[in-house]
Amino acid sequence: MIRLIKPYISFDEISAEIKEIVDSGILTKGHYSKRLPELARAYTGAKHAFLTTSATTALTMCLKLLEVGEGDEVVVSDFSFPATVNVVEDLGATPVFADVSLDTFNMTTEALESRLNERTKAVIFVDAAGNPSGLLRIKDICVKHGITLIEDAACAIGSSVGTSRVGNIADLTCFSLHPRKLLTGGEGGIITTNADHWADVLRLKLAHGADETMNFVTYGYNYRMPELSCLLACRQFEKLDEIKAERQSQLTEYQRLLGPLGFMPQVIEQGVDYNVQSVVFRVPQSVDRAELSEYLKQRGIESTLGTYCLSACEYYANKYHDIQPVAFSLQKSTICLPCYSDVPVGEICSAIRDYVVR
Ligand SMILES: *Cc1c(COP(=O)(O)O)cnc(C)c1O
Repeated sequence: MIRLIKPYISFDEISAEIKEIVDSGILTKGHYSKRLPELARAYTGAKHAFLTTSATTALTMCLKLLEVGEGDEVVVSDFSFPATVNVVEDLGATPVFADVSLDTFNMTTEALESRLNERTKAVIFVDAAGNPSGLLRIKDICVKHGITLIEDAACAIGSSVGTSRVGNIADLTCFSLHPRKLLTGGEGGIITTNADHWADVLRLKLAHGADETMNFVTYGYNYRMPELSCLLACRQFEKLDEIKAERQSQLTEYQRLLGPLGFMPQVIEQGVDYNVQSVVFRVPQSVDRAELSEYLKQRGIESTLGTYCLSACEYYANKYHDIQPVAFSLQKSTICLPCYSDVPVGEICSAIRDYVVR
C-alpha cells in the first residue's frame, strides 16, 4: 500500500539516544523535553514555546488560558479536523462557524466579520493543510476588534507569511506532532506565543500549577510529552527545511501531471512559504471524489478527503443547523494524495488518469 505519509525518521538515526534515555531512566522532563521547545522557539522566532500532548490539548490549554467558557463565542474556520471545534464545545462555549475560501481553503475576512459580536472571545484560524494564506488579513480584523487570535497550526510547522514564520504571527499558535504531520513524536503538540504574561501562566498550568520551588500556586494539568517522543521530534526538526524542499518538488510534479486532468491545486498566496503538509486538490466536477478514492485503494494507493466541514459533522449539524456552503463543498470535492520520501508521484498520477479517462 502506498501510504499518505511516512514519518521522516528511521530507527538508526536515534538508536543510540534511545538506549541512552532508556538506560538513564529519565523518561520525562529530560534533555530532549527541554531541547524541543528551544528548537521550536529558534525556528519560529517566537519568544516562548511549550510542549503539550497534542494540538488538541494545546488548543484546549489556550482557550482555558483565555478563560473561555459558557456564554462566550469562539469563531472557528469551518474546514478543518474536528478537534478545532471540539475544544470549544468541550468548554461549554459556543462555536461559530466561519466559511472558507474555495481557493485557499482558509477562513475569509467576510465570513469572520459577519460572525463577530460582543460575545466573541477568540478566533481560531486554521492553516488548512498547512497553508497560512489570509492569516495576516484575519489578524488585522482581530487586532481592530481587540479579539485574541489563536492559530490552529496543527499542520503548519515550517510555513511562513512574508518574513514571519507561523508561530510568530498569531497571539497563540498550536502545532501538532501527530504522525500525519510533517514532524512527529508519535503524539505531541507545541504552543508558541510572544506574550510574557501568557507564558507565565502557561508555565505554571502545564506543570500541575507548581512554580519552580514546587509551591502549588494555582491548579494545573499534565500535558507533557514523553522524553522518547521529544527525541523523535527533535531529530526531524533538524531536517525540517530539507523535508519541506523535497515535498515542494513532489507537489510541483503532482501539479504538472494532474493539472491537465482538471485537478485544481490549493491556492498558496503570494508571499507565503508553504510547508506542503498535505497535497490536496479539488477534483474536476465530472469526478466523484469518494469513488476515485475507492478506485485508488484497489490499486494500492491510500488517499482521503481534504478535510472536514465542521458545521456539517453530525453532532454540530444537529446542534447548530449552520452548515457553511463552501466548506461543505470542499469536503466533498477535495482529495489528499500521498506525499513522503520517494513517493511514486508518476505511478499515482497515472492511476488517477486511468480512472478519469476510463
Ligand atoms: C491534526 C489536526 C488537529 C489535531 O491534532 P492532534 O495533535 O492530533 O490533537 C487539529 N487541527 C488540525 C487542523 C489538524 O490538522
